[in-house]
Amino acid sequence: MATSQVTPMTPSDTGDGFQDRGQITFSVNYPAHAPRVDSPLFIKTKKLLNTASGGKCFICGRTAKETKVPHEAHHHPIMYSMMVVVDWTIFAVEAQRGDYGPGPQKFSWANFDPKNPMTFVDDMRYNGILLCKDHHTGPNMGVHVLPWPLFIAQKYAKAGYKFSDSEIIVHSTST
Ligand SMILES: [Zn+2]
Ligand SMILES: [Zn+2]
Repeated sequence: MATSQVTPMTPSDTGDGFQDRGQITFSVNYPAHAPRVDSPLFIKTKKLLNTASGGKCFICGRTAKETKVPHEAHHHPIMYSMMVVVDWTIFAVEAQRGDYGPGPQKFSWANFDPKNPMTFVDDMRYNGILLCKDHHTGPNMGVHVLPWPLFIAQKYAKAGYKFSDSEIIVHSTST
């Protein structure tokens, strides 16, 4: 039984700057699915994603050399754990239309078999973004931690903005 309780992000946003301590509470149901293991396709295409991204984090642009921790490939937009509930007929149309960005749009949907969705889900060239460890799972920073509106703000915010007690926005341009 699915329930969802999400506290409004900015219950009293008067326009003054303020610190949101994120009292988000929610309860959603993950469908039963096979435990995740790194498939050969994932391992291979993670490397290709890394190359195509110039080794840069999707959010901050830093390389693993700069962060000193290996970057990670994040399944996006289809979560591995939600794969079994995807309506592929709907998704394929939306993806080809560009609703989910250039990655899913470029996938070869004509050859897709919904009975074997891993060919898309685990292909990081089309269903993946490269993230530094911080922007993957880091406190106050990660895509698995922050709501999407706050997560993506780290990508477009001006450098130097104090986003949180642990992060000042940077956009690395080093190669
Ligand atoms: Zn990053
Ligand atoms: Zn992830």
